[in-house]
Amino acid sequence: MEYNITDRWAVVCAASRGLGFGCAEALAAQGVNLVINARSPEPLEEAADLLRRGALGVEVRAVAGDIGDPEVRREVLDAAPQTDILVTNAGGPPAGDFRDWEAEQWDSALRQNMLTPVELIKAVADSMAERGFGRIVNITSSAVKAPIAALGLSNGARGGLTGFVAGVARQPSLASRNVTINNLLPGSFATRRLTDSLEAESRDSGRSTEDLAREARQEIPAGRFGTPEEFGAACAFLCSAQAGYITGQNLLIDGGAYPGTF
Ligand code: NAP
Repeated sequence: MEYNITDRWAVVCAASRGLGFGCAEALAAQGVNLVINARSPEPLEEAADLLRRGALGVEVRAVAGDIGDPEVRREVLDAAPQTDILVTNAGGPPAGDFRDWEAEQWDSALRQNMLTPVELIKAVADSMAERGFGRIVNITSSAVKAPIAALGLSNGARGGLTGFVAGVARQPSLASRNVTINNLLPGSFATRRLTDSLEAESRDSGRSTEDLAREARQEIPAGRFGTPEEFGAACAFLCSAQAGYITGQNLLIDGGAYPGTF
């Protein structure tokens, strides 16, 4: 299916691998030019090369740096002639016990997973509205719908972003001008983040990562982890011209793991 977004410019944050890269790849396949970002320059450049080779004719620019840093955000946005599509993303906060988290840990989680997307949305939304096209997708987590106790920092920060988006997306100044804002909620995807979590759990429990992974897969009705390609495909659809009437939504992509009707 043609998504009618060829030659648009997308800024995809935290995209040298994993879900961000999946989104960048799916957008590039639709002929979208990209600015991608991540902290480590080398893997970021490698990812940019991979994207250039995969989608000929698409321009890919790479800006390294922590997306939580206001100067990096400015550089990332300035690297695109205009931002038609914005995918916000960053690493998730660490797991732990709420008794151990001090203001410092909360500040970091809130900055990375709530205030950074808020600032990015603020920076691009009005100019998208002026041009009559804008697609914003925030990568959050299934924990927004089904909180995971050990991921309290993520539950809190992403919950805050979700509430903010729910209000902003419905503002006529954006919605009536073809600017949509939606959240994608990943369940369990086969990325470095998942491998790292399984390894941490294995160290704590003394069980093998293979056993833990098998058990985790069994809890998912689909019987497997999702792939960044599947995630990217959903992102590209939400960024399509055809998705202009979908806004303020939270789309779970979790292989059926969430047990609720809504
Ligand atoms: P991943 O495979 O570890 O990839 C994370 C990407 O983000 C890398 O490119 C990393 O590169 C970049 N990054 C991390 N922090 C950054 C920062 N502050 N500024 C710029 N780039 C940054 O993780 P993932 O699985 O794709 O996860 C993406 C998001 O989805 C995370 O917030 C995660 O918590 C959430 N999520 C994932 C799952 C899952 O099953 N995978 C489930 C629920 C939620 P550098 O390290 O070089 O910066």
